[in-house]
Amino acid sequence: MIPLRPNIKHMAGYVPGFQPRDEQRWIKLNTNENPYPPSPQVREAILAELGEDGACLRQYPDPPSAAARAEAAHLYGFDPSWVILANGSDEVLNNLIRAFADAGEEIAYVHPSYSYYATLAEIQGARVRTFALGEGWELLDFPERYAGKLFFLTNPNAPLGFSYPLEFIEELAGRVDGMLVVDEAYADFAEENALALVKKHENVVVTRTLSKSYALAGMRLGLAVARPEVIAALDKIRDHYNLDRLAQAAALAALRDQEYFRAAVEKIRATRDWFSTELRVIDYSVIPSSGNYVFAAPPDRNGKRVYEALFARRILVRYFSDPALSHGLRISIGTREEMEALLNALREIG
Ligand code: PMP
Repeated sequence: MIPLRPNIKHMAGYVPGFQPRDEQRWIKLNTNENPYPPSPQVREAILAELGEDGACLRQYPDPPSAAARAEAAHLYGFDPSWVILANGSDEVLNNLIRAFADAGEEIAYVHPSYSYYATLAEIQGARVRTFALGEGWELLDFPERYAGKLFFLTNPNAPLGFSYPLEFIEELAGRVDGMLVVDEAYADFAEENALALVKKHENVVVTRTLSKSYALAGMRLGLAVARPEVIAALDKIRDHYNLDRLAQAAALAALRDQEYFRAAVEKIRATRDWFSTELRVIDYSVIPSSGNYVFAAPPDRNGKRVYEALFARRILVRYFSDPALSHGLRISIGTREEMEALLNALREIG
């Protein structure tokens, strides 16, 4: 018998969105990737780092990723001691659980939102509680005081796309005894973000990713903003070389080129708003989205049927068998041409 820990033996493991091998032949709108390349400065910076012969790769990278960390801190208006960079925001979510929730202690999140929190908690042996959403996106049965160690609020919500106003998040911060982690993976596409609350409330942590708005999903780059005591703890836990040399160069270049970043985000937001209107014209019900995706239900509320018909046409969107979501589909915002092709397919499918 292999002596695995029982929770590892029995856990299902997280299943990411389908990644086709012949990617070029698909319209891929299932994992909220950015349809545009990253800033040209990113490619330049990676090539410059590699140099003629790639000799730099002999040596370990800078353990704290200091240059990219300082750039992120400057961008968001914080001292670098308030920021940590991570190998994707998934890494920092994992390390938050490891830092705050012992085996048997409780963490919570909203259902539906990002179910990977549950997988990470299972690995740690922490208990998981979920709060369901009401009709107006209120958290059902949320106690006057929540006593768990961590509460994860995905804002904008993924996969539904709506976002909570700052006043709501601030009120929540006051009702959570442990840490309130605002997962802002999609906040660059929204009107507001909770960074100001990190300065006001010692239990607020904001996490971000460069996977979506900076088009760097393939580099694995994320970050967290929190009090220096929290950042120092996360620094103790992380792999000491968590960002490789090329990722550090890419992060620095991407964060510096704000002009390119803002233009790409603006294009995606405009496509999202136009696409949402077009979906309503063909009688889809669409949740107004603050992300780079929309959650929409076909007139017959049969998400699976439409998912399968699109799959047969080599168009990938995200279908969730979860009963809270199976009536609809989460559709990532691609280029205008991709969304037009999708709309044509939806009109044909009916
Ligand atoms: N949070 C949410 C809500 C997400 O949708 C994702 C992407 N799947 C992540 C975090 C993780 O992003 P990253 O690529 O930075 O690990």
